[in-house]
Amino acid sequence: MRRQVQHAGSPAADARPIAVLSGHEPSWWLRAQLVSMESGWRSGEALGCPHLGAASIWLAALWRPDLMACPSCAHHIMATGTENHTCDRCRTVDPGVGPLAIEWRGILVTFGLCPSCFRLELPA
Ligand SMILES: [Zn+2]
Ligand SMILES: [Zn+2]
Repeated sequence: MRRQVQHAGSPAADARPIAVLSGHEPSWWLRAQLVSMESGWRSGEALGCPHLGAASIWLAALWRPDLMACPSCAHHIMATGTENHTCDRCRTVDPGVGPLAIEWRGILVTFGLCPSCFRLELPA
């Protein structure tokens, strides 16, 4: 089950809509990433934008676990250039890397997966 959301903030030229995973059971890999990200947030390692108090949802990216943003500041955590095409799981640079997001404890966490890691995360 996936629904499309629009990029918040100023979209880059190659911005694609993020596919938000809903009702998805994270794989062991994704769960480990989310848990280590969350422990970083809890120990105060993450820097938030100044608007988090008023934001309806918080956004974070797996490749920048030290930043947290409101929807208007989302462009600060969105990957650009090569990172935008780098798989967060196997670190392969692949033009087929697609932006995904999962809601984790009220925070929308974005990440990118290459086609083969996508199949590991979401077996057909
Ligand atoms: Zn903000
Ligand atoms: Zn991959």
